[in-house]
Amino acid sequence: MSAVYRVDLDAFARNLHRVREAVAPAAHMLVVKDDAYAHGLEPIVTRAVAEGVHWFGAFDVATGAEVRRIAGPDARIFVWLIGGSDDLLDGVAADLDLGIGDEALLHDLAGLRLDRPARVHLKIDTGLHRNGIRPERWDAALERTAALVAEGRAELEGIWSHISEASDADDDAARALFLAAREAAHEADLSPRFSHLAASAAGFARGEFREDLVRVGAFSYGIRPAGGPSEGELGIEPIAGLTATVTAVDAAGVHLDLGSLHGLPSSLGGRFDVDTPEGPRRVEAIGPTAAVLAPWTGAAPGDEIAVFGRGALYGVTDLAELIGTIGEEIALRVSPVVPRAFVVANA
Ligand SMILES: *Cc1c(COP(=O)(O)O)cnc(C)c1O
Repeated sequence: MSAVYRVDLDAFARNLHRVREAVAPAAHMLVVKDDAYAHGLEPIVTRAVAEGVHWFGAFDVATGAEVRRIAGPDARIFVWLIGGSDDLLDGVAADLDLGIGDEALLHDLAGLRLDRPARVHLKIDTGLHRNGIRPERWDAALERTAALVAEGRAELEGIWSHISEASDADDDAARALFLAAREAAHEADLSPRFSHLAASAAGFARGEFREDLVRVGAFSYGIRPAGGPSEGELGIEPIAGLTATVTAVDAAGVHLDLGSLHGLPSSLGGRFDVDTPEGPRRVEAIGPTAAVLAPWTGAAPGDEIAVFGRGALYGVTDLAELIGTIGEEIALRVSPVVPRAFVVANA
């Protein structure tokens, strides 16, 4: 057997309850971009619905439509990568909530034949400059949105932004811009029902950022921030772990088949340990699909070794910190061709 990525759906459910409690009374929007952070979209969305998650953050329209198929008609599904008219049409057809951060999309909406009003969440650029309407263009965007609302083409459902979560001072400045933008919407007689600007870190640490919805990806999957609080402090746990099989034992060491990892950085070689029946052993070298471990007596082909994540000595963020990146970077290296095994304790 080759490598397996085991995802514990009960641990995921416990994280969902923890996130819900941490961000209350705001609602948890579960972010499921990148195939649910490489855990597998369908089982993750299915379990989240069963645990009472109502909002999903799907990133692009195609993923949003897929979440709609899995989650059913009652879920609210927010997408924020919208390319143009085709995406707008597909998004409205799938009953998605559309994050609009570009005035051109408001122009596009004005020219479309829609069966129902588009549910728009206008994005104010509060300093990240990824997308979002610049503060100096905000009034013009509100005017255009008000016209779309008056024509029955749109409902202004939300106002949102994305913050860096890198420093409290930057986030405070972003929040001030956000609150001013919302105030301007009220003055323009637009009353969005939902405000949202925080992701995992600010959603947990800073109550004033929670607003109505908190878009939480990483912490839902038990991925802690690099250089930040521990899983224990956050009350979350890793939900997935990579298990690999010993393929050979020779003078060079114990060889492991890692399966297909989009290049787990070879710079990790020599820098972390895995547990073996005889205690921790160093991972001496890492290649694209295989690793070599320091030997132990009794090592034999077929032995299974927990390499990283749940059940292993090192989590994805522990590995990330060794090479100056973030846990999501490591988690997303587990390619879709590595088989996933979904574990449910009381199945
Ligand atoms: C990825 C993403 C999130 C989730 O961030 P986490 O730190 O993983 O919780 C929230 N909002 C937007 C716009 C994102 O792109």
